[in-house]
Amino acid sequence: LTGGDHVAIVGAGFSGTMLAVQLLQRGGGRVTLIERGPEAGRGLAYGAADPIHLLNVCAAGMSAFPDRPDDFARFAQASGWAASGTGFAPRRLYGDYLQARMKDAAAAAGGRFTLLRHAARDIRGDDERLVLALDDGLELGCDSAVLALGNPPPAAPPGIDSEALGADIYRADPWAAGATDGLGPDDPVLIIGTGLTMIDMALLLERSGSKGPILALSRRGLMPRPHAEPVSYEARSQAPRARGAALLQAFRHRADAIGWRQAVDELRPFTQNMWRRAPNNERRRFLRHLRPWWDVHRHRLAPQLHARIMAMVESGRLEVAAGKLLGAKRSDGRAQVRWRRRGSDVVECFAAARIINCTGPEGLLRNSSEPLLRNLAARGAVRPGSCGIGLDVDEAARVIDGEGQANPRLFALGPLTRGTFWEISAVPDIRLQVEALAVRLTA
Ligand SMILES: Cc1cc2nc3c(=O)[nH]c(=O)nc-3n(C[C@H](O)[C@H](O)[C@H](O)COP(=O)(O)OP(=O)(O)OC[C@H]3O[C@@H](n4cnc5c(N)ncnc54)[C@H](O)[C@@H]3O)c2cc1C
Repeated sequence: LTGGDHVAIVGAGFSGTMLAVQLLQRGGGRVTLIERGPEAGRGLAYGAADPIHLLNVCAAGMSAFPDRPDDFARFAQASGWAASGTGFAPRRLYGDYLQARMKDAAAAAGGRFTLLRHAARDIRGDDERLVLALDDGLELGCDSAVLALGNPPPAAPPGIDSEALGADIYRADPWAAGATDGLGPDDPVLIIGTGLTMIDMALLLERSGSKGPILALSRRGLMPRPHAEPVSYEARSQAPRARGAALLQAFRHRADAIGWRQAVDELRPFTQNMWRRAPNNERRRFLRHLRPWWDVHRHRLAPQLHARIMAMVESGRLEVAAGKLLGAKRSDGRAQVRWRRRGSDVVECFAAARIINCTGPEGLLRNSSEPLLRNLAARGAVRPGSCGIGLDVDEAARVIDGEGQANPRLFALGPLTRGTFWEISAVPDIRLQVEALAVRLTA
């Protein structure tokens, strides 16, 4: 690409917004950022968050720029947020930060930046140029396009018929506004999933004054572990050599020696390469058996939120159970939920006034309901990443088509590239990917 080129970025969450900022700051051509949601610059995680929702990475780890590690901590302190870099800031404050950085970069870039409030529905093109089809029949020509579509809503869990339950009972998308609206103070709530989104919902229910019982259910009933004060240790300087079961054993020894948090954290610089070099059957085994354990240790919770959740568990308000949802039928304005604890044959019933699907983003491309991805997949312009997750991309973030050819003009960033890189859903990983792509596009 040359300095006069035009880059269109679809999605203005962290990934798309920070790519726009980096491109504008590095000079070069025009940048158009396309966002269909109500606010550009925040995305799913830092947009609709309630004040009670905190970042799950400490402030010192959340700079949007790899080469300015204290950028967010400084912004937070200048905004009146009192805690130190090891504290966990509100997610909304992080959205303010991203928007501030976007505004600064746009102001300094003169007329090179355009923000379009539209949904992108398709991208066509040839070796010379791309054309994005937007809603309202608009078209946008560009030299290259970047898909930064982020985290899609969760898939419907087995045993749930959303139409039969009705939208007043079943909330398919926990991130859409109002997942807990309309509940009476004693209404029982079933949360499907026991990860970070379940924590968000339980905290929201507690803050909104609800006193009814909450049942949180997942196959293993595993909850995110809390962060702890950082300790100093000598982190490994090379990726582990072992693979499969031997790797797991080596990891356990290391956790015994230096603590599990450190054993997880020291792998971070190597995780993407470990995933990439693992054969497909090993990746599948990881997804089936280890992923739930990895997720709760890897993506941890601010200690103060963990304490609040444990208080809810101890008081009996919140039950976190390992089990299987067998079915849910609507009757008298409630869902009669049948479920079974893991390892038990006894079928239990729970009458829920609300069921909230917190099973996590649907990662499989073939299940995507996103029109843009469906259109691209239908024409073979994209293909699924490893294990069917997200989009296949190469090291340079170029999207790979159905015939295995990397498209030099179409790129993807962030959680959409999880099948290829695995560890690419949090800011400390995405900011590196964003910077690398910005450097490439402005070289
Ligand atoms: C609730 C939640 C909390 C999180 N908290 C943290 C945290 O504390 N720390 C951390 O490091 N990571 C956190 N994460 C991980 C998160 O994935 C990344 O931090 C980051 O926000 C991902 O940004 P993104 O831009 O890739 O995706 P998103 O934030 O999902 O943004 C994608 C954007 O694309 C838009 N879009 C999608 N399709 C189209 C289309 N066709 N046309 C136009 N616009 C479109 C969407 O409207 C959305 O605004 C959290 C994730 C979630 C879901």
